[in-house]
Amino acid sequence: MPSGVRSESGARHPRWADVPETEWTDPRWQMTHRLRRASQLREVIKLTEEEESALGSDDLFRVDITPYFLSLIDGDDPRCPLRRQVVPTSREMEAFDGWLPDANSEVEHEPVRGIIHKYPDRLVMLVTSSCTSYCRYCTRSRFVGDGQQNYSRTDWREQIRYIRESPRVRDVLISGGDPLSMARKRLAEIVAEIREIPHVEIIRLGTRAPVFNPFVVDDELCDIIEANHPMWVNIHVNHPYEITPELAAACSRLARTGAPIGAQAVLLAGINDSVEVQRRLCTELVRIRVRPYYLYQCDSVRGAGHFRTSVTKGIEIIEGLRGHISGYAVPTYVIDSPGGGGKIPVAPNYLLSLSPERAVLRNWAGEVSEYQGPAGYRSGTTPPLRLPEPSAPLPPSDVRTVSDMLSAPRSPAGPEGGGGA
Ligand SMILES: *Cc1c(COP(=O)(O)O)cnc(C)c1O
Repeated sequence: MPSGVRSESGARHPRWADVPETEWTDPRWQMTHRLRRASQLREVIKLTEEEESALGSDDLFRVDITPYFLSLIDGDDPRCPLRRQVVPTSREMEAFDGWLPDANSEVEHEPVRGIIHKYPDRLVMLVTSSCTSYCRYCTRSRFVGDGQQNYSRTDWREQIRYIRESPRVRDVLISGGDPLSMARKRLAEIVAEIREIPHVEIIRLGTRAPVFNPFVVDDELCDIIEANHPMWVNIHVNHPYEITPELAAACSRLARTGAPIGAQAVLLAGINDSVEVQRRLCTELVRIRVRPYYLYQCDSVRGAGHFRTSVTKGIEIIEGLRGHISGYAVPTYVIDSPGGGGKIPVAPNYLLSLSPERAVLRNWAGEVSEYQGPAGYRSGTTPPLRLPEPSAPLPPSDVRTVSDMLSAPRSPAGPEGGGGA
């Protein structure tokens, strides 16, 4: 672990040794004391030529790093996995093949400014363009960090109207930017208004703020969550060094609200693209009661070219997790479809051959076994449900098999289901 002065409130770079405890642990203090310019960063990091050059560029994706997170960084090691996530280098200015301004075609699926609607029953609501700190591989760098492109009261009103008028939406994922970087009062109002919509069953918060500023998980935030259940929280953690006593305490406070906590990570070259790092990350997350949810393939977004790994590497990592560590600790590895089709799970193949009579299988340790299918199985004998209709109608339950798709190609289902939007 990087060195620093570990006080009651954790590691601190000597630059902030004299800051009173009450200020250091005040989430607003962390926000107002973020560093962004080379002249400031030089005080805590021995900047390389590549970093200096990026910080001097006038076409730079926003930089803003909390004192808390800077204190976790090894200022002497340019390969420090936390440093590489937030300190720019000239490599992010490099173009690469396959580069896309909007890597997951979100803009095409934006019926209202800030609503990304790709699936029939759920959508993403972008409530702010600001973040607590700025990940260099940000998939939404097309607007994130740009104050000019922030969302306003009018946008939120339109977004909520869209959700109200979309009776099939039962799940709203509040994201950004980072929803925990915005004023608490605004967030509380937005969440409460969504909660009033009868067909919205669950509300999720997607945030990386607890990693950059764990003190944001305060009573005020916990009250918002508790008052609007069922709420789910998904945090974004990429490396075991991010799991500090402060983050553990923040997750403990979150867990006490009763919201299930998930985590996503992005697979990043030179940062967490090893079985060793991922095993440690996932087991440490489970230890703080956080369930690894998704491991994302890094998007082909501007500035992120040098962070991308092969898909082979991602599969190899899942292969090194599944069976070796608790099933709860294994995330689903997904590639967000460049065409805007949503997340596509990619997994090692454990099924060596399949017919209705026989499945030949391989386990995590490489042992082959055979499952004998039942003779005379007929599907379709499960009685239909006798339950009241759910508040939002579920999508049709017919499943398209690969053979259906090969015999009758058609466009994938859009938010309206069936034959596209
Ligand atoms: C990720 C995502 C969701 C949520 O997907 P889940 O697999 O249910 O977590 C919804 N809408 C969009 C546009 C997304 O990118």
